[in-house]
Amino acid sequence: MSATILNGKAFAGRLLERVTEHVAVLKTEGIVPGLAVVLVGEDPPSQIYVRNKGIATKEAGMNSYEFRMPADTPEADLLAKVKELNADPAVNGILVQLPLPGHIDDKKVINTIAPEKDVDGFHILNVGRLATGQRAMVSCTPLGCLLLLRDHLGDLSGKDAVVIGRSNIVGKPMAQLLLGESCTVTIAHSRTKDLAEVVRRADIVVAAVGRPQMVPGDWIKPGATVIDVGINRVPAPEKGEGKTRVVGDVDYDSAVEVAGAITPVPGGVGPLTIACLLANTVTACCRANDLPEPEGLSV
Ligand code: NDP
Repeated sequence: MSATILNGKAFAGRLLERVTEHVAVLKTEGIVPGLAVVLVGEDPPSQIYVRNKGIATKEAGMNSYEFRMPADTPEADLLAKVKELNADPAVNGILVQLPLPGHIDDKKVINTIAPEKDVDGFHILNVGRLATGQRAMVSCTPLGCLLLLRDHLGDLSGKDAVVIGRSNIVGKPMAQLLLGESCTVTIAHSRTKDLAEVVRRADIVVAAVGRPQMVPGDWIKPGATVIDVGINRVPAPEKGEGKTRVVGDVDYDSAVEVAGAITPVPGGVGPLTIACLLANTVTACCRANDLPEPEGLSV
């Protein structure tokens, strides 16, 4: 048996179409959703992410505001910028690109963002709302994984799900979302005993670890749905000296033979993150204006 390949790029494209359609509807009401991204310092990957977010925001018809601040920006200046954006009615979503330079307390910065504009879903109020089943802004990567799972499986209730990884940005919100769908959820981490047995019980496996190909195919229950969040760069001597390639946390070649469905890396979960960021921005804009939200793009 070979698994269905869950094409994240195509699914993200469909999400973006719906976002774009909703933006067009808002524009007929004279409303243009706006996303502000703040980048402190010159971390090269962060610069690429910020540029890509800006391009995608404009392609969806929204306003994109970018603020670049030097690496030695005092924390107080960054907090002042966040407060200014909180007060700006043209800004519906605020994202402060992480990681921040070491002298800045990232939790303080995130918790200064107005919760209703916290499109990354990292503010403590949004985390608490998600955990207590209240309407929240949800972290983009887990939200994307959930929308993909719903799209592929429909009703998730009663399914055994394991989330490998307990980070605040992926593992924990993913587990909360699956619990919200009435899955029976196990959260595994570096201290979990006999991870292979835990994974073998699961109908849904979400791997968010950051260890290349650590989940082999023989851990996967036949027919299970496997969502591989991991992005790991490994040497690829076959491509030439010093070359690398990106692999997930799941050993794709063996898992694809056992799973019912699986996300590839690259081209699986990765593209969903930006799509969900834009979906969250539209959702935030609708909530701010007391207008109907796009259906199925939030929880
Ligand atoms: P973190 O490093 O914050 O968390 C990793 C988690 O994996 C921790 O909870 C850790 O456990 C657990 N872990 C580590 N080793 C093992 C092990 N041997 N067995 C079981 N669990 C283990 O990572 P993130 O959550 O931020 O990211 C995870 C992966 O997802 C990374 O590859 C990252 O690049 C990728 N990612 C991809 C995104 C996308 O858009 N596709 C977005 C965000 C992340 P413990 O808590 O005990 O230390």
